Amino acid sequence: MVEGDLAAIPPGERVLLLPHCLRPSETCPGRPSRQGFHCPEHCAERCPIKTLREEALRLGYKGVCIAPGGSLALRFVQEMCPRAVVAVACAKELQEGEDAVGDLGLTRSLVSVVPLSRDGCVDTEVNLDEALALLRAGTSVG
Ligand code: SF4
Repeated sequence: MVEGDLAAIPPGERVLLLPHCLRPSETCPGRPSRQGFHCPEHCAERCPIKTLREEALRLGYKGVCIAPGGSLALRFVQEMCPRAVVAVACAKELQEGEDAVGDLGLTRSLVSVVPLSRDGCVDTEVNLDEALALLRAGTSVG
């Protein structure tokens, strides 16, 4: 899905998927849970997960899942039934996610992805400007 297609779908019908490897591994106070990685409400860390999660919720996204892996992210998407998914992912997760989405019969065109700019499973990085621009596509700040 290109940004223009995503723009046609209201934020309230989108979800955001983030990989938990974006967190600062040495200082992150969050904890894994069955619903995905859980961040304390007033986490004081400088963290891309915090920036993207808060912006998605401010824009009115239907939900945000910080997932340790593709299976939890897929379950979240199945439960939330969004019309569009915005995801930050590495190439491996992206391929696995696309295969699983196909297996579930969901259309691939539903998913917009920002690739990690630094991969490696721990302390990864994403271009925040690019991710924020995609999140905001079609909104008054997009
Ligand atoms: S906002 Fe970032 S640093 Fe804070 S708990 Fe969440 S993932 Fe960890």
